[in-house]
Amino acid sequence: MKLSLQQHIYFFTLSSCLFFIVLVISILWSIQVVEVAIERERYAHKVESHSNILKQFIRSEDIYVENYNTDSWQTLERKFDELLELTPALTSEQQTIQNSIKSQNKNVIRLFETINQNQLENADDRIKEHLKLRLITQLEAINSDSKQLFNIVQKDINIAIKQQVTFVLVILSLSLSVLLYGAFKLVRIFRTSLNEVKLAFTKNRCGNYQNIQLSNKSEEFEGIANAFNDMNTELSETTVSLASMKKTVAERTKVLEQLSNTDPLTKVANRRALFERGNAEFSRTQRTKNKLTLILLDCDFFKNINDQYGHLFGDQVLQHICAVCSEEIRNIDFFARYGGEEFIIILPESELNGAIKTAARIQSSLANKAIVFEETDVYVTLSVGICEITQQHRSFEEMIKDADTAMYRAKENGRNRIEVIDGCAAQ
Ligand code: GH3
Ligand code: MG
Ligand code: MG
Repeated sequence: MKLSLQQHIYFFTLSSCLFFIVLVISILWSIQVVEVAIERERYAHKVESHSNILKQFIRSEDIYVENYNTDSWQTLERKFDELLELTPALTSEQQTIQNSIKSQNKNVIRLFETINQNQLENADDRIKEHLKLRLITQLEAINSDSKQLFNIVQKDINIAIKQQVTFVLVILSLSLSVLLYGAFKLVRIFRTSLNEVKLAFTKNRCGNYQNIQLSNKSEEFEGIANAFNDMNTELSETTVSLASMKKTVAERTKVLEQLSNTDPLTKVANRRALFERGNAEFSRTQRTKNKLTLILLDCDFFKNINDQYGHLFGDQVLQHICAVCSEEIRNIDFFARYGGEEFIIILPESELNGAIKTAARIQSSLANKAIVFEETDVYVTLSVGICEITQQHRSFEEMIKDADTAMYRAKENGRNRIEVIDGCAAQ
C-alpha cells in the first residue's frame, strides 16, 4: 500500500495515541485488580484477628460464674457477624472458606447460647470444661479457617501483582516496538529517499542523466522524482556531455586534419602536408647530420593526354601515378602531390643512390603498367629530378628548387629520365 508521508505521520501519531490509551487503561485496570486483592487481604486479616479475639475471650472468661454477663461476648459476636456479612468480592475458593467460617460461627453462637441458657451451675465440672473446650475448639477451627483464608488471599495478591506487572510490561513493550518500528520506517523513507535524490543530482551534474528510482514509495518523494526525471529527459535530449563533446570534437578535428592534408583527387598528401613534413625532416636532418634526399617527378606531355583522352582520363592517370609511386617507396618515405602533374618523394636517411633506384623502379613500373582507355593501352612516363641535402641548403624549399632544376634538365635531355642536381646523369 502506497501512503503519503503525511498519511504515514498521521498513522504514526494515531497509533501512538492509541497505544498510550491502551497503556493507561491497562495500568488502571491492573491497579484495580491489585486494590481488590489488597481489600481481600485486609478483610481476611480482620476476620483472622477477630476470630483470635473471640478465641482469647472465651479462653480468658469464666463463663460459668453466677449471673454471667454476656454483653461483651454478644458485642464481639455481633461485630464478627457484621464483618462476615460485609464481605468483599471473593474468589470461589475464598468464598468456600468464608462459608465454612460463617457456618462454624453459627455453631459457636448456638453452643454459647446452649451453655448460657442451660445454667450449668450444678453440672459436673468435667461437663462444663468439656463444653468450654468444644467452644474453644470451634473458635480455633474458625481461627484456623481465617488463617487459611488470609494465606490464600496473600498468595493471590502476589500472583495478581506479578500478572498485572507482566501484563503492563507486555503492553508497554508492544507499544514501544510498534512506535519504534513506525519511527524507524519514517526515518528510513526520509533518509533513503533524500540520499537517492542527492545521488541523482550529483550524477546529473556530471552529465550522467539517470532517472531517480526510489526504493521506498511515498507520494511526496515520488512527486519530486517524477519532476526530476522529466527534467532529466529533456536535458538528456538537449545537452551533450562534456566527454562526448570532446570525443566528437577530436573525431571531427582528425577528419579535418586529414582533409586539410590530403589531396582530394588522388587521396595522397597535398602540398600543405608536404611542406609540413619536409620542413620537419629538413630540421631533423640538420640536427642529426643524417642523409635526406628529395625526388621531384613530372608527368611527360600530360597536356597531350588531357587533350587526347579528356580531362577525366587525365585525372585517372594522376591516380595511377600515385598508386605506382606509393607502392615503390619505403615506409619511412613520404609521397605527396606537389601540384598539377608534379609529385615529390621525401626519402629520410637515404643516399642519392637509393633515391635513384627508387625513381628507376617507379619508371620501370609505369612502363609495364598501362592505363586502358577504350581498349587502348596508354603508358605514361615521368621526368625525375633528384636532390640530396648539402651544407648549402638552408631550407626545404631550396632542396625543391634544386630538384626542380634537375627535373627540367631531364625534360631538356629528352624526358623519361632521371637527373640529379650535381649534373651527373643517373641513366
Ligand atoms: P611536359 O612534358 O613539358 O611536362 O609537358 P606537359 O604537357 O606535362 O606540361 P604542362 O605543365 O604544360 O602541362 C601540365 C598540364 O596538366 C596542364 C594542366 O591542364 C594539367 N593539369 C594540371 N592539373 C590537372 C588535374 O588535376 N587534372 C588533369 N586532368 N589535368 C591537370
Ligand atoms: Mg609540370
Ligand atoms: Mg608535365
